[in-house]
Amino acid sequence: MIDNKKRIVVLLGPPGAGKGTQAELIIKEFSIPHISTGNILRGAIQEGTSLGKKANAYMTKGELVPDELVIKLVEERVQRNDCREGALFDGFPRNKTQAEMFFRMDYITENSKISAILIDLPDEEVIKRLSNRRYCPNCKSIFNLIHKIPKKKINDTYYCDNCGSELIIRDDDKVQTIKNRLKVYHSTAGPLIEYFKKKNVLHVVDGSTGQKRVSEEILDILT
Ligand code: AMP
Repeated sequence: MIDNKKRIVVLLGPPGAGKGTQAELIIKEFSIPHISTGNILRGAIQEGTSLGKKANAYMTKGELVPDELVIKLVEERVQRNDCREGALFDGFPRNKTQAEMFFRMDYITENSKISAILIDLPDEEVIKRLSNRRYCPNCKSIFNLIHKIPKKKINDTYYCDNCGSELIIRDDDKVQTIKNRLKVYHSTAGPLIEYFKKKNVLHVVDGSTGQKRVSEEILDILT
């Protein structure tokens, strides 16, 4: 809590801007849970739940899952006890409709201190970063063949540093899907960013300056 207020952090930015990495730092620093709609949806797909089945078709194409499905899962998630003192939202809200829904949730009250942080990154850099990303389907760790190279490699296969599982390229990190995700991002991000700006809670950070610098800037904003 900050001054008895719930700390709500919203991470915005294109896929691959480093939201996940920065999220890890923020949740440690402020002891708030990480609510990543992408992770929740991927979990639902792996478990084969009805939500997962509905979401899968959209996700493999790089399209957004329908707003009502996403808002329902977020509303359920914030009811858990660990969100009492605040939460970090990563990948949600994703468009203006979701942003409106977000501000209307019972969870967001006058007693919430909201900070929206936009980590900005040019498209070419997004494509380079995401196509080099490798994902552990077991422990969900993320590696990158450019700057976070997994230690173990046999032939062309990489293995997870944490649990030893074989790393994969997520379906939504395949080049064609990345291009589609960027198209979707550009068509929805403008109004979303504008929305947070009008609410006077937006901070913009340049994502190309490197992970450490971005972390420092974010901590400066939040403390
Ligand atoms: P992410 O891991 O946040 O990049 O999300 C991966 C995919 O999950 C996206 O390309 C969407 O298909 C879906 N997704 C995640 N969050 C949302 C959201 N807030 N609204 C709609 N779809 C989402």
